[in-house]
Amino acid sequence: MPDMEHGEYASRLAGVRGRIEEAAKRSGRDASEVVLVAVSKWHGAASVRALYEAGQRDFGESYVQEALAKAEELSDLDARWHFIGGLQTNKAKFVAGGFHLVHSLDSIKLARALHNRAEAAGAVQDVLLQVNLAGEEQKRGLAEDEAARLLEAAGDLPGIRPRGLMTMPPFSEDPEASRPLFARLRKLRDGLERKFGLDLPELSMGMSGDFPQAVEEGATLVRVGTDLFGPREY
Ligand SMILES: *Cc1c(COP(=O)(O)O)cnc(C)c1O
Repeated sequence: MPDMEHGEYASRLAGVRGRIEEAAKRSGRDASEVVLVAVSKWHGAASVRALYEAGQRDFGESYVQEALAKAEELSDLDARWHFIGGLQTNKAKFVAGGFHLVHSLDSIKLARALHNRAEAAGAVQDVLLQVNLAGEEQKRGLAEDEAARLLEAAGDLPGIRPRGLMTMPPFSEDPEASRPLFARLRKLRDGLERKFGLDLPELSMGMSGDFPQAVEEGATLVRVGTDLFGPREY
């Protein structure tokens, strides 16, 4: 059983899409440039199916075993699975080549592991570099100079393809508190593109609390859980 009535998934989805459209309009962007990733962690397969039936296609998961079990159970759906959580190197083998996009690449060691596994599988894994802009101790992610070093190393790792950057600002009640960090992620991306002559089109930023601000600052992927699925039960 899904957590909510079917009609509620459709109306929540319409609400989030509407807010993405308004934010895009305010900033002179087209909403079609923004992919909504529905973060389904801790919500069961039936809830994912209900949101899929309402028209959602991209889903994000944070835990490897949970993600694989759900993708397996929903293998009849034409869904795209994103991996957005912290990934231990020894679990890279379960992820490489199997996800549409990994948002959470945060070390050279993990880059090598994903490359090795993807290459062995004859695949190329698209990845985003997760950057910890506020330098929060408890949060994963690369410092800005480490992101540059990782991109340099990735030049020798054809099993992964860097597509852009991801960030998760410190939690705040005020969505405007995230805006300067979103703007900084975009500037960092622009600088890295120039420095390495790379195309890094994707910016994964914005969650339930602050996705309109992220869209205004250039997000191409927003990761929304609670606003679509309701609260997560511990
Ligand atoms: C859980 C999670 C989200 C979704 O958070 P909500 O506040 O429920 O929208 C987004 N990104 C990451 C990396 C997450 O772990």
